[in-house]
Amino acid sequence: MANVLSNKKGLVPPQNLGAAALKLAIDGVPVAKAKAIAKAEPTSQKSRSGSTKKPLAPERVAAILDALRRTYPGVVCALNHKDAWELTVATILSAQCTDVRVNLVTPALFKAFPTPNAMAAASLPELEELIRTTGFFRNKAKSIKGAAQVVMDEFKGQVPQTMEEMLRLPGVARKTANVVLGSWYGIAVGVVVDTHVMRLSRRLELTKNIMPEKVEQDLIKIIPQNRWITFSHELIHHGRQICIARTPRCADCSLESLCNSGDKTWASH
Ligand code: SF4
Repeated sequence: MANVLSNKKGLVPPQNLGAAALKLAIDGVPVAKAKAIAKAEPTSQKSRSGSTKKPLAPERVAAILDALRRTYPGVVCALNHKDAWELTVATILSAQCTDVRVNLVTPALFKAFPTPNAMAAASLPELEELIRTTGFFRNKAKSIKGAAQVVMDEFKGQVPQTMEEMLRLPGVARKTANVVLGSWYGIAVGVVVDTHVMRLSRRLELTKNIMPEKVEQDLIKIIPQNRWITFSHELIHHGRQICIARTPRCADCSLESLCNSGDKTWASH
């Protein structure tokens, strides 16, 4: 669940990118690479985004949801976990890192520190060493140790089940809270907005925003609440496999007939 543009509390647009690089970065290209590409390709593809007549028409949104459900039946969270605590830690580690990398790291981490109690008692250097390859490991070690301490001190060792309480955990913003509340507890209080959901929502003209909180609010308005959890899983899978950041595989896309993105690499209409 890589976030390219992020601070501790979520995605933010950097101040020092030009328009072309910023667009690439929002679409999921790492910032340094986006800058290099924009420099090398100053006349990048002109966007036709916004060319759908009524992009938020209920029948169009319903068709997108139907196509996603048919393409990814029974989709689940790609982060390996066996309880709410493991999912919380894995999601914190997934910031600016691939789920595949996180899944490589968490078995040894949870073997060494299997409970919030054990992780709260761990030293930061021990945690840092185990999560080093996920990037930003010092901040992430502080977050998971701090989250373990809050879970122990304030919630009797149980990951809380409300957004307000989840946001008390260090390193947990709305995205992580939505992942845990939705995927583990089955509580739909919002839509997970990671880099894939952001990029695809913009390409499909479901939002024009670039701030995750605003994108989430846009999606909440048009997606039925009983689809909030699965919709984000489906978009994340679609973003990884088909609608990838630089060269979307539009010829293989089940949403192609509904999509008028300027980023398309192939079009039937
Ligand atoms: S048609 Fe292309 S740009 Fe549109 S959603 Fe599919 S892969 Fe993405």
